[in-house]
Amino acid sequence: SVKDLSIHIRSARPVDGVSFDIAAGECFTLLGESGCGKSMTALGLMRLLPAAAEVAGGSVRFEGTDLLALPESGMRDIRGGGIGMIFQEPATSLNPVLTVGRQIVEALELHSTLRGAAARERAEELLAQVGIPDPRRRLDEFPFQLSGGLRQRVMIAIALAGAPRLLIADEPTTALDVTIQAQVLDLLDDLRRTQGMALLLITHDLGVVARMADRVGVMYAGQLVEDAPREAFFARPAHPYSVRLFAALPDAARRGGRLATIPGSVPPADARHAGCRFVERCGEAMAACRNELPPWREIAGGQRVRCHLADAAPAVEAKVGQPSPSFPLPEGEGSSLPPLSLRERGRERGIGDTAIPAGETPLLAVADLQVHFPIRRGLLQRAVGAVRAVDGLSLQLMPGRTLALVGESGCGKTTAGKAMLQLIRPTAGSVRLAGVELTTRSAGELRPLRAQMQMVFQDPFASLNPRLRIGDIIAEGMLALKPDAGDAAPASAALLERVGLRADMAARYPHEFSGGQRQRIAIARALAVSPQLLICDEPTS
Ligand code: SF4
Repeated sequence: SVKDLSIHIRSARPVDGVSFDIAAGECFTLLGESGCGKSMTALGLMRLLPAAAEVAGGSVRFEGTDLLALPESGMRDIRGGGIGMIFQEPATSLNPVLTVGRQIVEALELHSTLRGAAARERAEELLAQVGIPDPRRRLDEFPFQLSGGLRQRVMIAIALAGAPRLLIADEPTTALDVTIQAQVLDLLDDLRRTQGMALLLITHDLGVVARMADRVGVMYAGQLVEDAPREAFFARPAHPYSVRLFAALPDAARRGGRLATIPGSVPPADARHAGCRFVERCGEAMAACRNELPPWREIAGGQRVRCHLADAAPAVEAKVGQPSPSFPLPEGEGSSLPPLSLRERGRERGIGDTAIPAGETPLLAVADLQVHFPIRRGLLQRAVGAVRAVDGLSLQLMPGRTLALVGESGCGKTTAGKAMLQLIRPTAGSVRLAGVELTTRSAGELRPLRAQMQMVFQDPFASLNPRLRIGDIIAEGMLALKPDAGDAAPASAALLERVGLRADMAARYPHEFSGGQRQRIAIARALAVSPQLLICDEPTS
């Protein structure tokens, strides 16, 4: 039971008066775009806030115990014991120098009486329970030897080691591909049903909410703005922000039109608000919205909203002009509307469009690309075989076009992307950029070509230098690759605004941003040198 939780970081208030309850066995999802305070709320519950942040008010009660009043030793028993937590980034939350088995056993030793062989046996059972094939062998592997999906399962296994009654999952599937995402969500749902474990699921993904939630809390700029049972939320989202989140979904009914976006960005956490925090982005704003804080209003059936228009909630929907969201609820539960028709949407673009016009030179021409990694064994590390990560890939991409390379994790997409940019040297094959063969060029010869080809990586946590301010991160490439382009500061300011951030954020460091904002920075950095070819490796994961 969270009441009026407020978290301050100096003058900023990333979480401001958030209240919700989660019943045993219930799944409560916190929904909102990046930078709304969802993760900070979760860290506050666990008292794992960054050093500069502090809980400024409110209470967090877990099974009747006031967590904010517990001594640190008591809190240590709760963490991993009563409440487990899994984070968005399994790569950075596992210890890279300990085997997977050791990390699970560590959690078991902290939260159970199991020791030695018995703990190892239980660790193997947990790996099997989270669907990791060949669990005995995996126990002795290190995190880097596992794919993203397997690492996230290991995180879940560690969280389950303490048999928590509440699991906080912060964007647990965002870094995973869709098939693995489905498996991880099924696993969490199964654990909730069979073990009565409550779930606080933080996500920005309406698909995940549709599939998992019992109740939904929508967060905006540090506050909850809507709290509703899932069916009510999907049948009739009440807050204009929720309505716009639905409007931003691709939908068969809106084919051919531009995808709706919510203009502007979430106000900074240190902004002061007299009225509604959504006012700058809300198409329905009235005079009262600027000066009066909207109170909570109950609409019906447990749906509450914080908006001056709430009494006329149906009118909100009509006014925004959006059709009811056609979003697939889990089978047998509600919506009679058709699910998104991806295949139809794909056809809409016209298959014929993808053919390469005769006589035109492709911007990128890849022929028979191979990347093999040697498998080494023995004292002398002799190569005894090879992993064929990419094996004979050919493709062509015309200027101004988009080519999608689709496949599950581990099938070689990232390696192919890196090999095209020569970040990994291919074993064989040819890569031509605007007619220039790249595979035969030395690193020095490739350098001037780097401005023409940029990459946005999946993981914005690992791909930004934590010691540089973001203005410098964006300018770094410009200065290195286009030294005569003049002053980089105005250009990086313009780029920040173009990706939906504010120019004055240039002086901040990457850790001051949420995951989504960091990815925007990574995109700004890639665009800074005006590349002709942009390779995006799961940029929205
Ligand atoms: Fe929009 Fe006003 Fe409602 Fe805020 S209170 S969401 S500005 S209508």
